[in-house]
Amino acid sequence: MSEKTARFVYADNAATTPVSPEVLEAMLPFLKEKYGNPSSLYSVAREAASAVEDARAKIAGLLGAKPNEIYFTASGSEADNWAIKGAARANMAKGRHIVTSKIEHHAVLHTCEALEKEGFEVTYLPVDSEGIVDPDEFRKALRPDTVLAAIMYANNEIGTIQPIKELAAIAHERKIPFFTDAVQAVGHIPVNVAELGVDMLALSGHKINAPKGIGALYIKAGTRIKNLIDGGGQERGRRAGTENVPYIVGLARALEIAFARIPELERVRALRDRLIDGILSTIPYSRLNGSREKRLPGNVNVAFEFIEGESLVLLLDSVGICASTGSACSTASLEPSHVLLAIGLPHEKAHGSLRLSLSHENTDEDVDYILEKLPPLVERLRAMSPLYEEFMRGEKIFKV
Ligand SMILES: *Cc1c(COP(=O)(O)O)cnc(C)c1O
Repeated sequence: MSEKTARFVYADNAATTPVSPEVLEAMLPFLKEKYGNPSSLYSVAREAASAVEDARAKIAGLLGAKPNEIYFTASGSEADNWAIKGAARANMAKGRHIVTSKIEHHAVLHTCEALEKEGFEVTYLPVDSEGIVDPDEFRKALRPDTVLAAIMYANNEIGTIQPIKELAAIAHERKIPFFTDAVQAVGHIPVNVAELGVDMLALSGHKINAPKGIGALYIKAGTRIKNLIDGGGQERGRRAGTENVPYIVGLARALEIAFARIPELERVRALRDRLIDGILSTIPYSRLNGSREKRLPGNVNVAFEFIEGESLVLLLDSVGICASTGSACSTASLEPSHVLLAIGLPHEKAHGSLRLSLSHENTDEDVDYILEKLPPLVERLRAMSPLYEEFMRGEKIFKV
């Protein structure tokens, strides 16, 4: 945490979240005295085994699933990989076509690209200017040889929420299994697999105040899928490896807390709206990326003309504000965000975008502080921008 700044504001909750004290407390006994291997027979091990099964039952209950439909993984990325590769390879006799969208997380996109190298064909559906998949285009993309549809529930960059229930129903008309990466949705909006009608759903712990390195995959009973890891009989023989007992316990506790908190996220939604309105009304040549209504409660993503998002993120850091350009995963590369390009932003606007993702821990004072610090920083970067200078001299007409 920065010592010198007037305030520290963590506004990058879509990248990761801190482990909450309640979650840590639930985990600690399993890092200390209750260290048994769930597969062993003595009582200290049976305690660990029943903690894993309690966690599975709790998570199943929250998601509207049965306990034997919940599988623990080491991350959201692992759950995405397993669902897609596992279902695609299990259904190869039927066909080798997959339908997904252009705005998926890299854990989905790069998995699909890996399958293309194995001979699968993938349709990457476009989205509209708000980042929504059109159900009619989705229907048209399905073919007799389509073996899997994978559409994310909520986008990690622009917070757009997809009509998953409708899309899953369309896939089922053709008997095509439907997978959703719900890593950003779970704990932020209501998620119930029975209500949604999905066959597989991925979630991750560290986006909802559990530790990094734990995730889960819901696999509806009867779904054809290859095993992920061969070895011992853990996770019903489908994903071997001694269970990460403390993290599994932590994940269940975090989900329990997050699901109970969803009604309180109205406050976060109000903070989000005040932040969006404050930015758009005080900073000229700025626009909101994504949908105003079909949007995660904490997501703000704005494009600023004439500047680089990376420079803005560094200046915000110097005043104690943690934010992000696009997604944390793509920040290391200089490629503009594939999500912002997919909603139609030209390269320069995609480069000048900023994501602020709020959580229940953010306050009105945090939003005041961002609205105080952000406009002069954007102005400072624009003052150094040759593009802005040309624009202000009227030498070029930019479309805003
Ligand atoms: C963070 C994230 C993932 C990856 O989860 P990890 O646990 O970090 O591997 C996948 N999909 C989405 C939408 C995410 O936001």
